[in-house]
Amino acid sequence: MKDIPSRPRSPRTLAVHAGTRRSQYGEVSEAMFLTQGFVYDSAEQAEARFLEAGREEFIYARYGNPTVAMFEDRIAALEGTEDAFATASGMAAVNGALTSMLKAGDHVVAARALFGSCLYILDEVLPRYGVEVTLVDGTDLAAWKAAIRPDTKAVFFESVSNPTLEVIDIAAVSKLAHDAGALVICDNVFATPAFSRAVELGVDVVVYSTTKHVDGQGRCLGGVVCGTKEFVRKVAEPYLKHTGGAMSPFNAWVMLKGLETMDLRVRAQAATCLQLAKRLEGHAKLARVIHPHLDSHPQAALARAQMEQGGTVLSLDLAGGKEAAFRFLNALEIVTISNNLGDAKSIVTHPATTTHQRLPDDQKAALGITPGLVRLSVGLEDAEDLIADVLAALDAA
Ligand SMILES: *Cc1c(COP(=O)(O)O)cnc(C)c1O
Repeated sequence: MKDIPSRPRSPRTLAVHAGTRRSQYGEVSEAMFLTQGFVYDSAEQAEARFLEAGREEFIYARYGNPTVAMFEDRIAALEGTEDAFATASGMAAVNGALTSMLKAGDHVVAARALFGSCLYILDEVLPRYGVEVTLVDGTDLAAWKAAIRPDTKAVFFESVSNPTLEVIDIAAVSKLAHDAGALVICDNVFATPAFSRAVELGVDVVVYSTTKHVDGQGRCLGGVVCGTKEFVRKVAEPYLKHTGGAMSPFNAWVMLKGLETMDLRVRAQAATCLQLAKRLEGHAKLARVIHPHLDSHPQAALARAQMEQGGTVLSLDLAGGKEAAFRFLNALEIVTISNNLGDAKSIVTHPATTTHQRLPDDQKAALGITPGLVRLSVGLEDAEDLIADVLAALDAA
């Protein structure tokens, strides 16, 4: 595919070709440039490059690398943003997007239902540096409206929250934020780049942990900040390149190859996930089955409008509490106990005692993280095998 395509390309085509940089050897598969540094032809060239490096000119791998640049251009093309900066992990991306643009005295509004480390940044790190943070119930538009002020600089949310799968009305929250002149930053992991409509709905900066569906095979940590050229290169990049949050070329190569198959993987995983959710709904051992596209989900209509499929994660609330949840986890044979998600292997976790252990009980209760809640990330195994495994484990619970 030529750099400037003659026809518009669909995301599936972009996921395979966008951003490719071929060396003089004409390799088909993207080259892995495992190099920290780059050689200059002359002292003058080194001077010029430090003054201003073009997109195909590299200085040091913490600043940029050809393999990393291929990944950045490919995911930016998929996400529909002008540019992207790849990071060492999803948390480096979340922290980089927020910290690079904020200063003491600024105000941020964020949804309360957040991934534990995101909550740590908003609730503990930013306030320590004089940033005022207001946490709201992300599903309550009136709460967003009341919290956003003229001095609000950024709004942050996970489009689908972990682990209770609350859905944020992206267009409505973005409008409220933009009316106040605030930037909208969305952690879009649960929507995945395959189902993301974030930019179209008004988000300014989209952040992913590429550890999840982009790798999708449990190998590497990674993250990415997607946004305008101005935000990515002038705001996020200086902060990230000088504070050490860059993605390694090896990980970028894994992520590039991950993007080629992501759409197929995620669609298959999401289809099995919904099938499993439907089979489990109404099960005697379950107080609740949570999946964004089930009719019983309080925001099913919004979730369907925002996401073509409901994602690859469902949560189950076992009526028997923690004891039943532990018996369920221990009885699963195919689904492994771990805390990643988006992997080809199905994974189950008990948030109250692992990912959200740190939260006091009242906060757990406020977020719906009950003692019986388990989060199930659905992989690429045969759907009937998975259903049978989960049903058998529920019998044992
Ligand atoms: C996993 C995750 C992160 C953090 O990503 P890492 O790659 O583990 O640093 C951030 N936000 C969400 C919603 C996640 O699921």
